[in-house]
This record gives sequence, C-alpha cells and structure tokens, in this order.
Amino acid sequence: MGKFRRTIDVARCKETGEIFRASERFIETKEAFLYRRLYHEKSISFECIDCGQHLSISGSKNDKIHFKHFPDHDPCFLVQNKFNPEVQKFYERALIAKESERHKELKQKIGDRLAFVEGVEADSISVDDKFIIKGRDRRKPDVYCRYKGKELVFEIQLSELSLGYILSRHNFYKNYGIYLIWILDTYDIRDQGTKEKDLKYLSDHQNFFKLDESVTDFKLICDYKFPFLTKENALLTPWRKKSITLDQLSFDVQAMQTYFFDFTENLEKIKGQQIIKKEAIRVEEERKLQVQIENAAHSKAQEICLADQVAYDLCNRLDNRDLVDDVFYNQRLLLIFESINQRKIIGFNYGEDKWVSFANNAIEYYQNHWRKIELALRRAELWEMVIESDKKKTFSKKLEKWNSISPKQDNRTNELLFDLFPYLIFQ
Ligand SMILES: [Zn+2]
Repeated sequence: MGKFRRTIDVARCKETGEIFRASERFIETKEAFLYRRLYHEKSISFECIDCGQHLSISGSKNDKIHFKHFPDHDPCFLVQNKFNPEVQKFYERALIAKESERHKELKQKIGDRLAFVEGVEADSISVDDKFIIKGRDRRKPDVYCRYKGKELVFEIQLSELSLGYILSRHNFYKNYGIYLIWILDTYDIRDQGTKEKDLKYLSDHQNFFKLDESVTDFKLICDYKFPFLTKENALLTPWRKKSITLDQLSFDVQAMQTYFFDFTENLEKIKGQQIIKKEAIRVEEERKLQVQIENAAHSKAQEICLADQVAYDLCNRLDNRDLVDDVFYNQRLLLIFESINQRKIIGFNYGEDKWVSFANNAIEYYQNHWRKIELALRRAELWEMVIESDKKKTFSKKLEKWNSISPKQDNRTNELLFDLFPYLIFQ
C-alpha cells in the first residue's frame, strides 16, 4: 500500500490546530523552508485531516512543497481514492469546510442533544473524535452514537461538500451496516440548481434533514415530497416540512437509510390510485354520455308523439275535412301557429317559455310564412314579450334582415290556416 504516496495539499498543525494548505502557505520559499526547518527540529508536526495520521513535509529542490503520509501508513481515503486532481481538490476543500466554526457548533449541538434522547446509549456518543475502523478502511464521522441496537452516524452537509465526499461516506457506512443521516446546513434541497445525482446519494426516500435549532431538544426538520392526486386526477409532489423526534424515523435495512415519510412507496400507491381513478372517470363519462343519448332519444320520441297528438286535434277542429291531408303535410308549420294559439310552446325543444328562441327559429326557417306568424304573435299578445325578452338582440337583427329582404309570402296554406286559426283572416 505505502509504495504509492499521493501528495496532499492540506494538513492540520498538531500544536496549534491550524489548517495548512501547502499550495497557499508554501509559495514563498522562505516561509516554506522555515516550516521545513521547524518540522525537522520537531517543534511542529502535522496530521492528515481525513485519517488523523502523521504527515511529513516533503519537496525536492525543483518540487513544490507538499504533505505526504509516511511510507508505512494505514489506509487513508484521501490517498486511496482514484479521484482526478480536480476532484481531489474538491474533496480536500470539503475536509477544510468541516473545520469551520459553524460545522463544529452543529456537531456539538447534535452530540449534546442526543445524550437526552431515550434509546440513545449516552456513553456511545462521540463528536468528531472516533474513527470507525473496518478492516483496512477508516472514517471519522461528525457524530456517532448507538440507538436501540443500531449504529448511527450524522454527517453535516455543507454546500461545499463534493459528490466525491458524499459518495465515500455513503458507500463506507452502507457497506458496514451503519445508518448515515445527512444533516443539511447551508444546502437548499429545494433549489433547482442542486444536482439531482447528489440528492440521489443523499436519500432514496427523498427525505432531507436539518437540525431544528428552534428547540433545545434533539429534533430534526424533515423536508419531504408528498404525492397526492388533485380533483382532476393530476399527480402532484409538493415539498412538505415537519419537525420530528428521533423515534419518528423509520430505518430501511436494505438501503441502510432513515426516513420519516416513504416517498417512493407512497408515490407508487398514488400512481396505482391514479390509474383506478382514471378508469372510474372514463366509465362515468361513458355513462353520462349514454344517459345523454337516451334522454335525447326520449325527448325526441315525446316530441313526435306530441306533434302527432296535436295533428289529430287539429284535424278534429277542421271545418273543411278535405284539408286533413294538408294538416299532415304541414305539421311543423301548424305547430308554430298552435303554440301561439295556446300561448305555450309545443312540439319544439326550447322549453315552454323560450319565446325568443321560438321566434328566431320561425323567422329563420319559415320566412315565407313570417308575415302571418308575426300577425299571430301580435294578436295573441305575445309580441311585446318577445321583443322585451330579446336581451341579446338576436331576434331584432333577424327581423331587421327579414324586413330589408321582405321575402315573398307563401299563400298555398292560407285556406288551411284560416280554417284552423280564423283570426288570421282579418288582416
Ligand atoms: Zn490520511
């Protein structure tokens, strides 16, 4: 292992706790050689901020000065990983971010508060001072504890953390059966700019946690997606937020993850409901359409029955029985006059009092009889009412047009009409 010794840019000074970045501090040759001298005099020493092992200062005449693990060092992720130099830099930056005051404050708060949570073994809690060593691999979590027979680690997620850092932690803890709970801080999961792949590694269940600093107990604010169907059967997944205690968390043994609300499972359920509801809507629409068709057929049948009934009544009223055939040839026209006669619309589907529609239809389709129809409306004292009800002026416009054209009037039905509706004779 120790043969390949990757150079390292960042280290902690053991004596002062100060973080050193070789690329920044050792640019000035003078300062660099001062530190090298102090190091060789053993007045100053350095440790790796990932694995905590000793580091040496290294660098030949033509070489930049950097840190290195000792040849016989134990495995260290900072050295073992196969990151390219760019990603390595991000990873190192993440390690430095973990040294910030805010980060330390959060770690301490989590550790202190866990001590009062039922089920947490108080003597198991460690804040930033315990390496988890598995085989030749080791990690130092921000906070560690045992809770109801399970091992939990909390890692604080600052926006500076790289995907490399997230993955290294995610895989390590998962492999060794330790539940990793990311605590987000300066990291907005609702921000559209956040990389989806980063989120994927944070949580299969799409639950994201922050420390609830509005209370003094250990509580986490959980952001989670909540799927539901709208009245129109559209599937929405808005974010919701809830402050929860540790015992409200569920543990997913397979994914080795914790969650408050199982988004994936609920999403599947809702999708199933959506399919059922879609089918129900289709069946209901089909049923409504069927009812509509039946109603239309029914009222058409009624209309025909009524029209025949009226036709027979008219025949009985005829003085001149020779005109019986004419009644049947002119049924629709006679229904117009009989409606006016009875002051009740019969045989047309407008409703009994829709006189504007009635008049519109009459002037449109019976323009060659309109003069007598208008006369009948006036004599039956319906005319004023038609004009007054014509709010949208549809009838007025048709009447104006009729007057301007003044169509030739059909007199062939006069004898029939005068027989049935004698008042029309006195024009
Ligand atoms: Zn190391």
